[in-house]
Amino acid sequence: MPSAPRPPAASETGDPILLTPGPLTTSRSVKAAMLHDWGSRDDEFIRTNAAVLDRITALAGGVGTHLTVPVQGSGTFAVEAMLTTFVPRQGKVLILVNGAYGKRAAKICDYAGRAYALLETAEDTPPDSRRLAAMLEADPAITHVFAVYCETTSGILNPIAEIASVVERQGRRLLVDAMSAFGALPVDARELRFEALAASSNKCLEGVPGMGFVICDKAALAAAKGNATTLSLDLHDQWAAMERTKQWRFTPPIHVIVALHRAIEEHAAEGGVAGRGARYAANCRILLDGMRALGFQSLLPDRLQAPIIVTFHMPRDPRFAFEVFYDKLRQRGYVIYPGKLTVADSFRIGCIGRLGAEHMQGAVAAVREVIAEMGVSECGARHAA
Ligand SMILES: *Cc1c(COP(=O)(O)O)cnc(C)c1O
Repeated sequence: MPSAPRPPAASETGDPILLTPGPLTTSRSVKAAMLHDWGSRDDEFIRTNAAVLDRITALAGGVGTHLTVPVQGSGTFAVEAMLTTFVPRQGKVLILVNGAYGKRAAKICDYAGRAYALLETAEDTPPDSRRLAAMLEADPAITHVFAVYCETTSGILNPIAEIASVVERQGRRLLVDAMSAFGALPVDARELRFEALAASSNKCLEGVPGMGFVICDKAALAAAKGNATTLSLDLHDQWAAMERTKQWRFTPPIHVIVALHRAIEEHAAEGGVAGRGARYAANCRILLDGMRALGFQSLLPDRLQAPIIVTFHMPRDPRFAFEVFYDKLRQRGYVIYPGKLTVADSFRIGCIGRLGAEHMQGAVAAVREVIAEMGVSECGARHAA
């Protein structure tokens, strides 16, 4: 006899639970912070804007040495702004690629006419520091190295501290895409030598989407005048105008900034990076243990798994169809994410956003029900793992 249908799982505002890499489930209070209109010259908004930027710099351990320059748009806008503001037109960037976001950096350089070289590894393999050192030694034209902290394509944690020390020893400059790491994994500019580091409002800070930002070494930013190849993504110009006028050059994403201010307060109340990182790590543990108990296999060994998003192999059972699995989970209130790996057929389940143990346990329970309903019993990898 079928059991009585339960209402689907829901967030504080009655929405499905987003187990995705962003946009994410946010708190009701973060969304509620947006229920006003402000003019861009409003004093209260100008103070809030300055506070948000200062607090981001402080979160990165950059007070006194670094400053944060915001840019309208999604995270990619910030990455593009970072690459094209800091890599001079005659510069060359070595891009470490083990997923879609590394490849996107290369595409940005293609558009912008910046020379680059690639150090590419498989999506389940971090870059090798000896190869990195050797490539830098062999090519003195390389001015910058671009690395992704957590490559969200697979969820792999790249060895960012090790990469930074090789880059520093070789006298080059490091640009970091920390989009899915910032706010949950440690970033301390006093230890991690970076010229610039990009992230956005809507990932581990748990704000709403619409704003990227780049934490910039002050001296390097001052020296970057004239590098940019687009007006709207010129971080030097954005910073210089903001210094003069306290305002954004073009329409600011005001609601996003006010929501981010609230989100950063909630981040601090949770214990900052350590507190947020611990909650995500606990979410990730529940997910991995629960899915493995059902027979699913994760792509990455635990030592390479960042507590952000987990890639699972597609089950080998012929009765498993991803679209059906996705829809049935969605009906139960959980939204998962397709894979975009080249190495294996996969899907992803995120651990970030305003989610706790009860959501992760609920998601695993929903997966158990759904595979039973589909008659799927063999959840091991379709391809040899
Ligand atoms: C989310 C993300 C980005 C930016 O993606 P947008 O869709 O432009 O917000 C860039 N790099 C990484 C590693 C990401 O996870």
